[in-house]
Parts: sequence; C-alpha cells; structure tokens
Amino acid sequence: MHIFAIANQKGGVGKTTTAVNLAAGLAAHGKRTLLVDLDPQGNATMGCGVDKRSLKSSVYQVLLQLASLDHARVQSPSGKFDVLPANRDLAGAEVEMVDLELREMRLKTALAAHQEEYDFVLIDCPPSLSMLTLNGLCAAHGVIIPMQCEYYALEGLSDLVNTIKKVHAHLNRDLKIIGLLRVMFDPRNTLSNQVSAQLEEHFGDKVFKTLVPRNVRLAEAPSYGVPGVLFDKSAKGAQAYLAFAEEMIERVNSWKEKL
Ligand code: ADP
Ligand code: MG
Repeated sequence: MHIFAIANQKGGVGKTTTAVNLAAGLAAHGKRTLLVDLDPQGNATMGCGVDKRSLKSSVYQVLLQLASLDHARVQSPSGKFDVLPANRDLAGAEVEMVDLELREMRLKTALAAHQEEYDFVLIDCPPSLSMLTLNGLCAAHGVIIPMQCEYYALEGLSDLVNTIKKVHAHLNRDLKIIGLLRVMFDPRNTLSNQVSAQLEEHFGDKVFKTLVPRNVRLAEAPSYGVPGVLFDKSAKGAQAYLAFAEEMIERVNSWKEKL
C-alpha cells in the first residue's frame, strides 16, 4: 500500500482536482484505491459523487475514533474506488484533538488496519499547514505537490518544503517529496513556460513529466459529481490525469525493482 498526501498550503492550486482525478485514473488502471478527504470543505467528497450532507459517518469520526474506517468509507458511485468522505464536522476536529495523545498519528493508525486492501491511498489535504495536514503528512510515504506555474508559486513552496522536512525529522522518517505536478498549465503563456523551466532546473526529476493543462472540462466535472477523467475521457485535461496515473504507477514499480 502506497500512501500519498496531496498537499500545498495555498488554496485553489488544484489539490482536490488532482486527488479526485488521480484516484479515478489509478482505479481505471485496475489499482485498488482509497481517496481520503481531509478538507472540511468536502470538495473531493462531492467531486466523487458522494453527498457530504448525508454521511452516516466521515473522516471526522475516524480521526476521533468514534467510528471505524470500515464504517465510514463509501464507494464512489462513478469511479471504482473508495472514499473516506469529509464535511463541515471536520472543522471541529482540530480543536477537539488538541488534548489527545498522538493526535497527529490518528489517520496513520486508522489506515494501518487496512494495509492489504489497497494499492494506493491518496489524501486530499486542506489549504493550510494545520493539524489535519499534519495527520496527512504523518500517514503518508510521500507528498505530491500540485502547483501553478506563476510568479509566486516558488515562494509558497519553501514553507511547505520546510514543513515536510520537519515532519520527516521528528514524526515520519518515511516521508519524502515524490514530486511537483504542474497544473492549470497554459503553454501559450511565456511566464508559465519560464517558471516551468525553472522548476525543472531546480528540482530535476522531482518534477513530474506529465503537465496538466488548463482545461474547462476538468472544472465542469465536479458539478456533475464525476471525476474529470470519466466525465470527458477525450478532453486534454482527462488525458493528462490518465497519463499522470500511469506515471505514478511507473514510479512505484521502479522502487520495487530497486529493492
Ligand atoms: P484546491 O483543492 O487546491 O483548492 P481545486 O482542485 O479545488 O484546488 O481547484 C481550484 C479551482 O480550479 C476549481 O474550480 C477547479 O475546478 C479548477 N481547476 C483545477 N485544475 C484545473 C485545470 N487543470 N483546468 C481548469 N480548471 C482547473
Ligand atoms: Mg481542495
């Protein structure tokens, strides 16, 4: 089981779109996949076609150990993957977890019992470096960082990289940055191309080969509760996320070969 957190403390950078479409893409490639929604906004939940307003239990109850993962997970109606959903309840978790022991390890503990059931677990983190994101980073083997190729993108990146280094040093020795995913890319924009080239220069093979273009079909899909890769398979955005799923599978397979 490979566990990846999709994180960037900035909002609106494509975390949820990446989490939902990578989950659906991995499932389309036959991989047993669980998507964990760690954002109280519940966008990943809704984007998978799961109604966040009518959950019997959610990731909130799992973090507070009021429900088991088995009880809280649901199947995405459109894609062949499981979802551990979230809604506004989760906003309270931060405060309610303050006095708990090992509070940053709650998600890790919940996932440990399900090792054999999934090939991939993807965690959609909220736009902050909060206790929720910390739970995501402590549970994960690696971080996928979606980013737009714009002038301020690199500035925010150093805070995230420093947080990941601290978590690696003190809480989770397994954690590493898997890669930076360039999203909402506009090839006609000179600045986008410059920033993209800069990223490749600084981060080398930590930059994924796949480039996700700005594509309106990806933005439309959530309102239908269907991942973009299934909503319009032929669209450029869907094709890119399917290619990204393949790239992730290749990466994981190349680690196995090295062992
Ligand atoms: P985050 O989870 O980081 O806040 P989202 O995935 O919700 O970001 O994306 C923010 C907005 O941008 C959403 O409205 C989403 O539909 C849109 N979006 C994300 N990726 C793309 C893309 N490649 N092309 C067009 N729109 C996109
Ligand atoms: Mg989001």
